[in-house]
Amino acid sequence: MGLTGDSKFEEFKASGHLPSPKGVVLQVVRLTQRDDVSNHQFAQVIKADPALTGRLIKAANALVGHQTRPIVSVMDSLIVLGMNAVRQLALGFSLVADNRAGICKGFDYEGFWSHSLLMAIAAQHLIRHKGVAAPEEIFILGLLSQVGRLALATIYPLEYAVILEKAGHRSSAELVELERAAFDFDHNELSQAMLADWGMPRPFQQIAGYHENPEQADVEEGGRDWKLLNAMHIAGNFADICLASEPVRRKLVPRLMLLAARWGVESDMLIELGDNVIREWKDWGRLLELRMIELPAFAELLKTAPLASDMVEMPALVSGVGQFYRLRILLVDDDRSVLLLLKTMLTSAGHTVFTARNGNEALRMVAECSPQLIISDWIMPEMDGIAFCKALRLNPAWRNIYVFIVTAQESTERLVEAFEAGVDDYLVKPINSKVLGARLRAGQRVVQLQEELEQDREQLRKFAAELATSNSRLQQLALTDPLTGLPNRRYATDRLEQEWALSQRVHRPLSCMMIDIDYFKSINDTYGHKVGDDALKQMVQVLRTSARKQDVVSRLGGEEFMVICPDTTLDQARQHAERLRLNVAALKVQSGRHVFHLTVSIGVASNNSPELLSADMLLQLSDRHLYAAKSAGRNRIAFE
Ligand code: GH3
Ligand code: MG
Ligand code: MG
Repeated sequence: MGLTGDSKFEEFKASGHLPSPKGVVLQVVRLTQRDDVSNHQFAQVIKADPALTGRLIKAANALVGHQTRPIVSVMDSLIVLGMNAVRQLALGFSLVADNRAGICKGFDYEGFWSHSLLMAIAAQHLIRHKGVAAPEEIFILGLLSQVGRLALATIYPLEYAVILEKAGHRSSAELVELERAAFDFDHNELSQAMLADWGMPRPFQQIAGYHENPEQADVEEGGRDWKLLNAMHIAGNFADICLASEPVRRKLVPRLMLLAARWGVESDMLIELGDNVIREWKDWGRLLELRMIELPAFAELLKTAPLASDMVEMPALVSGVGQFYRLRILLVDDDRSVLLLLKTMLTSAGHTVFTARNGNEALRMVAECSPQLIISDWIMPEMDGIAFCKALRLNPAWRNIYVFIVTAQESTERLVEAFEAGVDDYLVKPINSKVLGARLRAGQRVVQLQEELEQDREQLRKFAAELATSNSRLQQLALTDPLTGLPNRRYATDRLEQEWALSQRVHRPLSCMMIDIDYFKSINDTYGHKVGDDALKQMVQVLRTSARKQDVVSRLGGEEFMVICPDTTLDQARQHAERLRLNVAALKVQSGRHVFHLTVSIGVASNNSPELLSADMLLQLSDRHLYAAKSAGRNRIAFE
């Protein structure tokens, strides 16, 4: 941008077509450029123009408000406003007075001044809240920051009429494109050059040049220049809304809410500010003899504005937030503007965003949407941010949710209270997109680590469970005989030890049977090994069904079996063994086409004898009795 000092601009000036001060105002402007002028001389010149006098007195009264008695003289106005402000106001007023009509068709001269006046008042009110510049200077800046549009209509009345017709109701960015194509420069550049020519301070020139597109200016978000530039940008949006047709107006409101929230003006304040600006605008309009229109109450406009964040396109707004790890985020705030701002920033950064208007509603939403991160306002109706956080942390399932609290100012004591309530981090209003981005990245890292940890834990739990089942399967395999499914020798001997120890402790009887199939070798020899296996299995089936519930039947190896009979006297075991023997003898073994019988010999022993000192001795005794049964002719039991 650089029309200042450009030969083309000098040409415009020389042609006399640029809107410029005349008469008394020209004298006022010249006087202020000299050092030797007193307030008195200055006042004398102003008084020559009654309209200007009235307007300056009004401006002075607007500045001092109703705190003191009203200002009625030019001198007092000069003292209150200062010479610079008077000069600038005089300049502005004269431009309005001299340019309320013109020959450019399609350029709405009165509408232009109504818009400029709205910008002036809105910017003044915004700045008053922040103290970044003198409000009366901002007023004139607002009034003149789009003067380039008026100048284009004056210099190129015919060409500009065509361009305005083409641009229609489209955005100012599109108008700028058309202007550049036609003239090589646009109205913003021209505004900037004119303000420079009138001796306005440099920051003001920059604001005139960039206020329609502040993201293109090289200023730090949240800094003084940024605040000034964006105040004018917000004021411009505000004026657009006031003068737009009803349906267009509704569409523009969310963007204004979002811009204002980012600047530090939330819904309630914006409503109050809006209504005040419109009231003052009507006063000023009368004084400057401008056409006025009726506007709806600002509260109604804001409260009915849709909260859909996709209605606001602001890529520059989210560039600072950045993408890292996509999260489910719950926003909790009673203010619609703040919700809209944060929702727009976070949704555009790729996060899934839910909203709640107070702590109670937020608790319900947490249960429904299981957010990974929460950004909650501090002061809210029903349940505030601290109470909400305390309630949240009571539920163990919600302890890992990363919680930001948003506060109006950093007070150490209050922050300690917040951290004690379970808050993880805080954000200061108005929320700066770069700060939000940086803090969010820290939160995202924590959430991601926690989730990875949880996944690892889950994996470990799964491994442990798998290991446990495979261990128990292995253990079973190690203790089971694969052919018959009976417990094997290892299991049987351990179990006999246990039963022995138990019987000793509780002084209960314990018996043991040793069983061996008679002449089994000859079965194998006669029918083959396969038939021998079948015979073994069928015989085991008989042992199983004949055994009592507490008996432990096991295969010691080959065709040798043991039955442990807890709580069984020798007498009972003897009868039991006899029954087993008979059952086996009754079995008709069937394998393929072979059918045959087999018999067993059984040695029985019991712990009733005092010489028996161990499980092993009981085992050996029953083995000896088995041997005796074999010797005595087989298919019998022996117990002595
Ligand atoms: P006794 O009446 O003296 O006990 O004579 P026996 O033939 O039964 O005794 P011996 O100990 O001489 O032979 C046991 C036979 O049992 C030898 C082996 O072939 C057979 N045997 C051992 N285990 C198995 C098995 O798992 N399957 C089959 N089919 N045969 C087996
Ligand atoms: Mg045998
Ligand atoms: Mg044998």
